[in-house]
Amino acid sequence: MALFESKAPERVQVAGLDLHCEICKRDMFWHRRAQLNTAVATFFSFDWANATADCYVCDGCGYVHWFLPKR
Ligand SMILES: [Zn+2]
Repeated sequence: MALFESKAPERVQVAGLDLHCEICKRDMFWHRRAQLNTAVATFFSFDWANATADCYVCDGCGYVHWFLPKR
């Protein structure tokens, strides 16, 4: 499902702010891009196909932070 995989954990900024893990508060993440299939897109009320989401997997605890594309 991943289209792109980072080779090393990296710091991430979202909306101009450093991202910290919701669970363990670390600031290093593995970047993944996930293709949203039709079922997922419908669940989130998207009306287009083939959208991708940015996923940042915490290097500390593995928690996945999902960011959906904004219109
Ligand atoms: Zn974490």
